[in-house]
Amino acid sequence: MNKTIRNTTLTIALVSIAAGAACIAQPARAQSASKSISRAVALPPLPLGLSVPDRLPRAIRDPQLLTAWIELYNHTEPIALWDGRTLTGRDLAQFVLDNDIPVVWDTNGVCGASSCSVLTCTDAGCTYADQSAGVDPLYIRPTLQGDSLGTLNALAHEIFHRTQPFGAVADTKFEEYWAYRVGNAIAPKTWPVFDGYDPLVSGWLFLWLANNHMGAYYPLADYPPIVEQFLASAE
Ligand SMILES: [Zn+2]
Repeated sequence: MNKTIRNTTLTIALVSIAAGAACIAQPARAQSASKSISRAVALPPLPLGLSVPDRLPRAIRDPQLLTAWIELYNHTEPIALWDGRTLTGRDLAQFVLDNDIPVVWDTNGVCGASSCSVLTCTDAGCTYADQSAGVDPLYIRPTLQGDSLGTLNALAHEIFHRTQPFGAVADTKFEEYWAYRVGNAIAPKTWPVFDGYDPLVSGWLFLWLANNHMGAYYPLADYPPIVEQFLASAE
């Protein structure tokens, strides 16, 4: 989900998701590797076969969230995007690492009943960097605590938003469609359903939301400008 709140110049983008499954297969440096990592947190037991990278994100201090990040890092199956490019879970995990993005439980309710990052929009465009020092956190819904698959799904969905895949623009139905697609490709759920909907047809995009009971997204514009231009040129 991506909830938008407007003040004079403020927009807050929120996102929520649920479960999923991480199917991971990498040569096991696994648990033993974690011993060599100097961290203040103790990782819970990791699924067999997980590869733990040498460098872990310092900005993730919670064991379950760090485990979800490691699971995401282990997803190397390419996910085909709308324009023919591909994306992997590892790409998303690397984005968090490279940008030092804190991933935290939303214990203060910044996102309401969702997971989210705060997106600030002005006439100059939209950014996930607010006026305060440091990198703004990516918030995960606390009700996902204990739900490792749901946490992984939410993490992938939210990082996808943070990459600003359509540039410095506000959220759209199309961006949400792809955030859910990416989240479910990495951590599959039975909801939402994607089969039979062509997101490049505005009406189908709307029906996809309606049939999956995601009315909160109705107010969003259908497409970001870059996709609008593509669709106009294809007519
Ligand atoms: Zn979203």
